[in-house]
Amino acid sequence: MQPTMVPAPLPKTQDPMDDEFWRRCQDGRLRFQRCENCHAWRFLPRYMCARCGSPEFEWAATRGTGSLYSWTVTHQAFHPAFAAEIPYVAALVELDEGVRMATRLLDCDRTALKLGMRVELVFREISADFRLPCFRPSASV
Ligand SMILES: [Zn+2]
Repeated sequence: MQPTMVPAPLPKTQDPMDDEFWRRCQDGRLRFQRCENCHAWRFLPRYMCARCGSPEFEWAATRGTGSLYSWTVTHQAFHPAFAAEIPYVAALVELDEGVRMATRLLDCDRTALKLGMRVELVFREISADFRLPCFRPSASV
């Protein structure tokens, strides 16, 4: 008997600003809000700049590069859709623009991870119409 494929859960948002972030990921570019007054990058999405208080912002594309700020190796599937993937790396990546993002680290040797190692953006299709921004060790290191 074939195991039943369980679809991966999609982000459930209750805020139009969060919806906008995920919608903008679907074209394969990672964009964060950037304040139009002081140019500070921000994530999670917010309605005003935490640095200067301005409500004006743009959705600016990142370079998609950064460093590994922290990680954990997950040995327990917290959702049946991920059972076949354990163990996997849940990571906190600091983008070169300065924001930190909780994400997955793909295509990596879990025993070779180091704080500060260079990582790069890769989008993973978790359904026919949804791309999830993930990272992997940088190929240019
Ligand atoms: Zn600002």
